[in-house]
Amino acid sequence: MNFENLIRDIYQKLKNIEDPGETASYIPELSKVDPTNFGIHISTINQSNFGIGNFDDKFSIQSIAKVLALILAYRIVGDEIWKRVGVEPSGTSFNSLVQLEADKGIPRNPFLNAGAIVVSDILISNLKNPKEEFIDFVRSISGNSGLEYSSKIAQSEKETGYRNVALCNFIKSFGEIENEPSDVLDFYFDLCSLEMSCKELSELFLFLANNGCQMKTNKEILNESQSKRINALMQTCGFYDESGEFAFKVGLPGKSGVGGGIIAIHPDQYAIAVWSPKLNIKGNSYKGMKFLEEFTTRSELSIF
Ligand code: GLU
Repeated sequence: MNFENLIRDIYQKLKNIEDPGETASYIPELSKVDPTNFGIHISTINQSNFGIGNFDDKFSIQSIAKVLALILAYRIVGDEIWKRVGVEPSGTSFNSLVQLEADKGIPRNPFLNAGAIVVSDILISNLKNPKEEFIDFVRSISGNSGLEYSSKIAQSEKETGYRNVALCNFIKSFGEIENEPSDVLDFYFDLCSLEMSCKELSELFLFLANNGCQMKTNKEILNESQSKRINALMQTCGFYDESGEFAFKVGLPGKSGVGGGIIAIHPDQYAIAVWSPKLNIKGNSYKGMKFLEEFTTRSELSIF
């Protein structure tokens, strides 16, 4: 399969289409990003890698970082983690408070803001220097020591993240947050501020296409069963309230972020990252979704 020609072709086709989306203005710093950015990078198991457009420019990966936090927490506490967060799609938006009341502070899944806040709490309880140890972990799985949090983005979100403050305090009221909400939120906002390019993202996530093993070193990040579970969660819960539609149209496990990035995994084949900052009404990159739909349709490769 010649992914390069296909990616080039779809990129040219979509590059200048009318994009009805909007950048995520609720985090002021994100609305300053040039909305015309559009980049794609694929990293494959057989090492035929390719990028086009703004594939080398760093952007705020936002919720995509929730997958990395989950992976580290899963490595540390194992299946105990599922007592604190569920594995069900929520059918509500990523920052919703409503289900938490009925579910007594147990978020439906780790990719909702509520779920990632609980995962952040677990990491804080288990790590001595949570922010340093987390970024070291991310650097180690990507083999890239240049990965960083963005203090600008984190600060911007700290100033305006009222719903996340509400979520964390609400969960704490059910006894499901162990640490001080301010500490948990401080970690959570830094987590969401991680910056990467499409190239860095697809290289990092390739281990999930390789049964949990880092490609270059063959080091096990997750065992086969854990890797399968993370992919399953990305498949069912990775796109907020549009996860069903992503499975329907694209047919791959993946995760989006409000910075306009999407990572998608084809087990045993590749990891592909797309970035275009304008979001559709559900909070997912408008062009990113379109690109991946066309990519899996025309390559006739999906997990279904
Ligand atoms: N930092 C964002 C928030 O908490 C993450 C949401 C996202 O990317 O979906 O609202």
